[in-house]
Amino acid sequence: MKLLSALAILATGLVAQGAAQERSEPKLILQITVDQLRGDLLARYYDRLGKGGFRYLLDAGTVYTNAHHRHANNETIVGHTTLATGADPAEHGMVANVWLDRATGELTYNVEDFRYPLLSEGAGVDKKSEIDYTQKTARSNGRSPSRILVSTFSDELTLFQGGKSKVFGVSVKDRGAISMAGHTGKAFWFSKKSGEFITSSFYYDQYPKWVTDWNAGKPPDKYAGTSWKLLHDQSTYLFGMADDRPYETALPGYGRTFPHPFGNREGKYFTTLLTISPVGDELTLDFAKALIQNEGLGRDDKPDYLSISFSSTDYVGHLFGPSSLESEDNILQLDRTLAELFSFVDSQVGLDKTLIVLSADHGGPEAPGYLSELGFEADYVDPKTWDKAAAIETLKKRFGIGEELITKYFHPYVYLNRKVIAENGLDQAEVELAVAEELTRFDGVALAVSSSALNVGRVPDTQLIQSILRNYNPNRSGDIYVVFEPNRFINRFGKLTVTATHGSPWRYDTYVPIIFAGMGITAQRIDRLVHTVDIAPTLSLIVGAKPPTGAFGAPLKEVIRQNY
Ligand SMILES: [Zn+2]
Repeated sequence: MKLLSALAILATGLVAQGAAQERSEPKLILQITVDQLRGDLLARYYDRLGKGGFRYLLDAGTVYTNAHHRHANNETIVGHTTLATGADPAEHGMVANVWLDRATGELTYNVEDFRYPLLSEGAGVDKKSEIDYTQKTARSNGRSPSRILVSTFSDELTLFQGGKSKVFGVSVKDRGAISMAGHTGKAFWFSKKSGEFITSSFYYDQYPKWVTDWNAGKPPDKYAGTSWKLLHDQSTYLFGMADDRPYETALPGYGRTFPHPFGNREGKYFTTLLTISPVGDELTLDFAKALIQNEGLGRDDKPDYLSISFSSTDYVGHLFGPSSLESEDNILQLDRTLAELFSFVDSQVGLDKTLIVLSADHGGPEAPGYLSELGFEADYVDPKTWDKAAAIETLKKRFGIGEELITKYFHPYVYLNRKVIAENGLDQAEVELAVAEELTRFDGVALAVSSSALNVGRVPDTQLIQSILRNYNPNRSGDIYVVFEPNRFINRFGKLTVTATHGSPWRYDTYVPIIFAGMGITAQRIDRLVHTVDIAPTLSLIVGAKPPTGAFGAPLKEVIRQNY
């Protein structure tokens, strides 16, 4: 008996060991985020895509055609952190690109951290030429992921592998790189000021040699004096006849029509213009290739992680709208960039040993001008033009004070002056409801939701309200969440007027692609509703790690089944 039991135990052990050995893991997990790639755009241009780029993913991958972000504020850091963590902003804490820090009374940029200065002097945000108005709110050039309150998938991979996995995030945008690299990875992003890929002292004491070498080659300089030109004959484009549209943003010297000249190296906006063209993505690819090679990603038996967030689609979408000749050409050029990336990864690691997941941090609205051309009434919203006198008068009558009740409106949140409210013996929740009611009377406002009401569950149970609740973090969210009517949004940011601005809870802003491809993935199209919070826990299951701290999404069963 004893011998038999011993043999049985031994046999069971052997079977278990065999099973463990059979479960092979990807050598590289490549997470690609295309900033502002709305869920319908790949289908729109499918016939015109080349080989080996998007088509490799669409034809050989598991393609989720009905994927959405489920939070309300569809901005860049919010979406990226959701993709990275599988958590909602209520849990991961990145409720907006910018929020008001209650302790200091100052606006806070999501990844700023004065404790960790940039490794390159003078590579910080140039407030004179920066067109990303959220970047300009940062009071420090230091950067870190410290405000992300939970772990990312990349963190869980690090923890699971005892620090033996290599983890990196790359993007033109600091927030596109830092969010995905998590707390344990390394992040690099593009400085428009210096034209280099940079990092902060959170990640390194000094640059790895290959980064210094890459920057020393001054890759952006070769675009000096050149232009963004169309890839194909203009007549072959869906928007070939619609290049010059009055609602597009015409930056000085860059214009509304092709070709768009970048100007010379000394131009104030030279590097900025590169990022508002396919070149931003080409530079990101070039840097990522150097990273894969020099850091030796995918070479040993521990899975490595690389996140690449491509930003050009977002900048082009903001200035020209998603239905423009510029956006169409940008997608076709990004398609080539992706084909080059996949071919490079194939040669270095093998696509059959790489797991690729592609998604977007948010979708985007159509330009109101484009909608109007097609018979759809739409317009911009400008809170600066709202006549607030009547609303203030109403509040004054009720509470004895009016304007003093409000500290700041930085869309989507209105921040009340809690101190003044308390000093006047007023009830915070009551004031929130009253201000919210006044806000809904203004042009373009669909809904204004009190945070106190959310907090105690005194709100209607609608999908829209649920998305605002998922965005609500008591330490960071404002006191009232403002939702504009569909196809209405702010387009003036200081001196800059843009064509389209995302950030709403409406479907055009929540709709994104989710595509898995590569190792263990077969071709299939899945039409059921899935969410971006499902990605991180799926990746965790594939590598055997525990889910990230706040990842309450459901692992995607169509992907998991193939991997086990
Ligand atoms: Zn974005």
